[in-house]
Amino acid sequence: EVAPDEAIKVQEKIEESEKVIGLSENLSFQTETQKILQIVAQSLYTEKEVFIRELISNASDAIEKVRHTQLTNASSIEDSSIPFEIKISTDDEKKTLIIQDSGIGMTRDEMIKNLGKIGYSGSGDFIKNLGENPDKASIIGQFGVGFYSCFMVGHTVKIYTKSALPGSKGYLWESHGTGNYSITEAEGVSRGTKIIIHLKPSSFEYSKMTVVENIIKKYSNFVGFPILLNGSTV
Ligand code: ADP
Ligand code: MG
Repeated sequence: EVAPDEAIKVQEKIEESEKVIGLSENLSFQTETQKILQIVAQSLYTEKEVFIRELISNASDAIEKVRHTQLTNASSIEDSSIPFEIKISTDDEKKTLIIQDSGIGMTRDEMIKNLGKIGYSGSGDFIKNLGENPDKASIIGQFGVGFYSCFMVGHTVKIYTKSALPGSKGYLWESHGTGNYSITEAEGVSRGTKIIIHLKPSSFEYSKMTVVENIIKKYSNFVGFPILLNGSTV
């Protein structure tokens, strides 16, 4: 019997090789954000898989920003030789899903500003509807929750990021999706953003390559950059 190609394909997984340096800063989410996170984390929303679409869309936006900056001024970008691509990696044993982009990354202040509070336009309506509507699943579906959607499936989310601004430091952002998050300086971080999701038992399926591959195929039609899953183009 000859093994099918799939079985012998070498899978390149993304490693977590970064190292934190020094003390962590412990910060709190805005009150409104905490409310939203609580709903999201406890959600029984059936289309949880949309978190993959949200993360791919953020990765694509971030790469588009760096690409644009590089076109206008190549020397204003850190590590300008890194290819513009989105890498996704599944680990069925560790029960993790990792998504990494070579995009614009975030500084410490940008992380606090962009990930610490709900900034998108629909957030006011979202909060208003939470009070009135007992069907929380439909609210999540209706408004979308962007980055926070990863707390539907993850009990812990770690983000390593380094801004494309030359001379930027790397950081680890970590949260359990409750009231707080921490930021710690880290070394070994490459330009862009790497998000590591430690999956809840109810969402272990997203550590399976075939499951994730089908979801990527469903949502990635309009993504302008290559997406690699465990090292192979999807
Ligand atoms: P939106 O994409 O609608 O702005 P999100 O909740 O998806 O809302 O993301 C919030 C913000 O966090 C983004 O606007 C961006 O500034 C930042 N962000 C999220 N993901 C990334 C990423 N992969 N690289 C750089 N910045 C990111
Ligand atoms: Mg987004």
